[in-house]
Amino acid sequence: MPYDAARAVSRRTAELGEAAIQHMAQRARALQAAGRSIINLSIGEPDFATPAHICEAAGKAIADGFTHYAPIAGFPELRAAIARKLREENGLDYEPSEIVVSNGAKQAITNAAFATLDPGDEVILVAPYWASYEQIVALAGGMPVVLRTTSEDGFKLKPEALADALTKRSKLLILNAPGNPSGTVYEPAELAALAAVAAEHPRLLVVSDEVYEYFAFEGEPRSFATLDGMRQRTITVNGFSKGFAMTGWRLGYAAAPLAIASAMAKIQGAFTAGANAFVQQAAVAALAGGRSEARQMRDVYRRRRDLVARELAAIPGIRFVPPPGSFYAFPDVSALLPAHDGAQPIGDVDQLCDWLLDQYGVAVVPGSAFGDARCFRISFAASDEALAEGLKRIVRAIATLDHSIARARNAGP
Ligand code: PLP
Repeated sequence: MPYDAARAVSRRTAELGEAAIQHMAQRARALQAAGRSIINLSIGEPDFATPAHICEAAGKAIADGFTHYAPIAGFPELRAAIARKLREENGLDYEPSEIVVSNGAKQAITNAAFATLDPGDEVILVAPYWASYEQIVALAGGMPVVLRTTSEDGFKLKPEALADALTKRSKLLILNAPGNPSGTVYEPAELAALAAVAAEHPRLLVVSDEVYEYFAFEGEPRSFATLDGMRQRTITVNGFSKGFAMTGWRLGYAAAPLAIASAMAKIQGAFTAGANAFVQQAAVAALAGGRSEARQMRDVYRRRRDLVARELAAIPGIRFVPPPGSFYAFPDVSALLPAHDGAQPIGDVDQLCDWLLDQYGVAVVPGSAFGDARCFRISFAASDEALAEGLKRIVRAIATLDHSIARARNAGP
């Protein structure tokens, strides 16, 4: 009997939104392979090499035989090193038993969602949000509730908006600061106000995704769990991908009250078991090794952020507030759309990003992937040369467009 493999795909998978970031990155790679000159500013991939002492520790760990299964929640020495890091850098007090090491922060968030959500539980996402949150929540059976923010407000969640969104089904609030793609860094008082609202809810847990903690250009990121009453209802997520330039190593972790950490380890045990054994040993070396590389990266990202701001200022009508953290710019181009390039209309930000890639060879990600279709995302984790050339192409491309329809609309009747 002939078998239709396409029909084998589950409804859950078929309904899963496509990951626009990977989609853009893949299209960029395919065009590059076909011989086009492509500048890829789509993915959050640091162009820095992993520091040598971390690579050496991994090599030594392999030679020392760390090539077998690791404990599900991580090696005790790494969990202890993470507990020390959280105490010394973040002012958080966790026992090693409250820490779960995973295959990247992404798996830590997945563990958190599967360990805490029952079908229909509501998960509050602050748009613009990292696109994977929506996918993970959907797979875990949660219901995303999206709260929108604006660039004028620094893409910050307001306590009143949080209070209004809470229902008896609310279970998780996912906060991410410094934010992807927003770059948002909250002031301590702003976080305290959000914590005060969360504290009044009987069920609400907060996932605080702190993977960009070392990349704040203004302000001091603060761990949400340090706020009054929040340790008991926060899952702190972090990882090595961004701060230590270790994206391909796949290592992250979460810290949470014991009952939640144990549930997360149980989920991880069911899906993938312990994270890579020799990478965990390398991570011990990473944490022991100081933060000078992270500070150097932050300074480079700040310089690139300023370059992005200078270049984008050349585009009339674009709304862009330079981000105080992370390595993404998220300009609002809604005042420029719809537009026309003489041959074809460009109706929305998805079409604009496709057009930029096809016609000008520069890959950026439409804001629709992050729950905000007014903007697009430029990653400035790319090299200086690639970023400068990519920005030039964006400015040149947008200058060729006819924006008369958008201008007439903006001028009103
Ligand atoms: N959280 C945010 C906000 C991110 O932007 C990313 C990666 O882009 C991750 C988590 C995933 O990090 P990891 O590579 O550790 O899975």
